Amino acid sequence: MSSDPTGNPDTRLLFFKHLAQTSAAPMGLEIVRAEASCLYDRQGKEYIDLIGGISVCNTGHRHPRVVDAIRQQVDQYLHVLVYGEFIQSPQVKYASALARQLPPSLNCVYFTNSGAEATEGAMKLAKKAKNRTGIIAFKQSYHGSTQGALSIMGDEYWRNAFRPLLPDVLHLEYNSVASLHQITERTACVIAETIQAERGVYTPDKEWMMALRKRCDEMGALLILDEIQVGFGRTGILWGFQAFGIVPDILLLGKALGGGMPLGAFIADRSLMWELTEGPALGHITTFGGHPVCCAAGLASLEVLLEEGLTDGVREKEQLFRRLLVHPAILAVRTNGLLIAVEFESYETNKRVIDACIAAGVLTDWFLFAPHCMRIAPPLVITDEQIERACAVILNSIGS
Ligand code: PLP
Repeated sequence: MSSDPTGNPDTRLLFFKHLAQTSAAPMGLEIVRAEASCLYDRQGKEYIDLIGGISVCNTGHRHPRVVDAIRQQVDQYLHVLVYGEFIQSPQVKYASALARQLPPSLNCVYFTNSGAEATEGAMKLAKKAKNRTGIIAFKQSYHGSTQGALSIMGDEYWRNAFRPLLPDVLHLEYNSVASLHQITERTACVIAETIQAERGVYTPDKEWMMALRKRCDEMGALLILDEIQVGFGRTGILWGFQAFGIVPDILLLGKALGGGMPLGAFIADRSLMWELTEGPALGHITTFGGHPVCCAAGLASLEVLLEEGLTDGVREKEQLFRRLLVHPAILAVRTNGLLIAVEFESYETNKRVIDACIAAGVLTDWFLFAPHCMRIAPPLVITDEQIERACAVILNSIGS
């Protein structure tokens, strides 16, 4: 029997033996059940989940309505044919529901398997529609790990081993009006995170976002906003771009889009999306993109988000975290709704605190481009009592 508190030793052994490992130090928890804002390991230990599967579980783990929608769809059909041939009602219903929540020009949804595939599809769409090759992205941005998405990732350390990547990509300073002149008539698209998450939660100025929109219009370049991490109420409004008074030409969604199931999407105007239908046809092909079970789950999750008004409490919960997370070792707390970066002086300090938190039943981690910052992005259903308990554990862990 197991004497290993992190899980069943056999499963743990097989995890390291047969599963490809990319993390140098995987957390290695064996979760056997998840519910709302909590995870439970094999020993029945509860963890308050402060990361929500990395901004995925906005409506909580296994919301009953999401689980019901999955069950109902499983009883009807699973995969029937590659994307875009059959009329699959879960896809149609979900695309229509998304269009109802978006500005009129974002009315046509291409469902993918993941966020990275949404990024790939959007870049292809922009190059084809504009008949241009230039792509502009921003330093310290993350858009996925496939080769196209990696090409626009804003950090050479993570890209370098995989060169050559896409040509004609330029990385500009985020939130710098002065660098926008580099968007020219050669630029097919500019792709930006509405709020830079992996930089450790960096919100740009409204003036910059408006100037970016204006410059794209002047140069005839498409503006792609990546809300894979900040969509679906994480910032206290349904879509991040609503705070900036602009609308992108293409919107990227993923993570919370599937309600806990794998789903991504790029969304544009029908007239633009038409580009993928002709010259050549099948401009983007996916077998499983828009899987009916994932779309059914995603639609149920969106309905929960809207009907239970989950975005309404986000700002108050954000303030509660801010009030509680005060300690001399915490150098800054950057927030945008329930996307929160707690900054420590070094990765080593952060890692020590994170490990102590996990041992004490609070799950958190760090950011890709800000390893000295602790990530807090809990399910939006987290309660005030859970926030208070989690923050007490964080403060206690700093001292441990
Ligand atoms: N874009 C952003 C802003 C992300 O945070 C992520 C994933 O973390 C992606 C794109 C890629 O999504 P996926 O991991 O589903 O490919």
